[in-house]
Amino acid sequence: MQSENVEGIDPATTVITKMREQGISSLPRNYELVYQFLNTSNAALIREFAALGRRPTQEQLDSIGKKFLPHHHGINTVDQTRARISDEMQAVIRLVMQDRSTLKKYSHLLGETSSRLSESNATQPDAMADLVRIISSATGDTIEKSGAAVHQMIERAEEMAQLKSELEEYKRLATVDAITRLSNRRAFDERLSAIYDNKQDAMHQALILGDIDHFKTFNDTYGHQVGDRVLSVAAAMMQKSVSKDVFLARTGGEEFAIILHGISLQDATETAERVRLAVEATPLKNQNDGVDCGRITMSFGVCMATDAANAQELYRKADAALYEAKDAGRNQVRTHIPKMLNWPFFKR
Ligand code: GH3
Ligand code: MG
Ligand code: MG
Repeated sequence: MQSENVEGIDPATTVITKMREQGISSLPRNYELVYQFLNTSNAALIREFAALGRRPTQEQLDSIGKKFLPHHHGINTVDQTRARISDEMQAVIRLVMQDRSTLKKYSHLLGETSSRLSESNATQPDAMADLVRIISSATGDTIEKSGAAVHQMIERAEEMAQLKSELEEYKRLATVDAITRLSNRRAFDERLSAIYDNKQDAMHQALILGDIDHFKTFNDTYGHQVGDRVLSVAAAMMQKSVSKDVFLARTGGEEFAIILHGISLQDATETAERVRLAVEATPLKNQNDGVDCGRITMSFGVCMATDAANAQELYRKADAALYEAKDAGRNQVRTHIPKMLNWPFFKR
């Protein structure tokens, strides 16, 4: 239950400050790497990144990125895509310039022909035929050249449409967790801070944090790969237990978050309880070897957005409630109780 990246200043500022301090250039893929370094529990990534020291080379950064970040190639793709967009734009500019110069020549020729037409000798049929031939040939030429330009413009537009869909796919991947297909930590951080963008909106929003109980033991018993599949099972249980518009994320190792909108504390607690029961009730069987892996359980902490002043505080309070659930024996839901309810007036 790491909470350091949501405490204090916002994550983007922390990452940028770190990059500046360490003399790392502000490429998107470097941002991703530093973000991961600051938020991961992966000891190897932390060790290798920390060993870089000040002013690491881009090669050193990329080699760590390739090793630890599943989408690092995707981020390279963004850099490459930017270069492709720039090439496409240059090509379009060249086409427009070329077309302009063709049209300019055409208009010049029409102007010349028009003045020859007003000359007296141009009234002769031969001269007229000559002029018509010139105009017709120039018109044909211009149409042909414009046609080629239009064709190339269509090709460029198709290329751009392809790039657009590649970028949209990358954007989607950058916010999705590779194992569970839920939103990832980065998407969660954004969604969490968006709760307080509009005070009115913050009303009736709730944060549920969930953590698989004794997951280390599960991994030790059945292996990390089976553990990975169990993370997907837990995600599926969460998805089944909430409506489609609910925000679900895997925020870290075996940690999940649910953000509910338009809900009371009681409903939010019931939602967490529904997920808890669904997870607990699901028998886990390894489909490869038929081994029965028993069941897992999860603990949950719930806090209403109105019980905190900002995203950091909301996370901290939901996390504290989750710790209480763990301390109380796990496989249960605990809610953050606002201080006011602890006043004697509210006590029965
Ligand atoms: P607790 O009930 O207190 O939460 O105990 P725990 O063992 O679940 O918690 P702890 O924080 O001690 O260990 C978390 C474990 O989660 C360690 C690691 O084996 C496992 N884990 C973290 N990320 C992943 C992952 O991506 N895949 C798998 N399979 N396991 C992971
Ligand atoms: Mg944990
Ligand atoms: Mg755990």
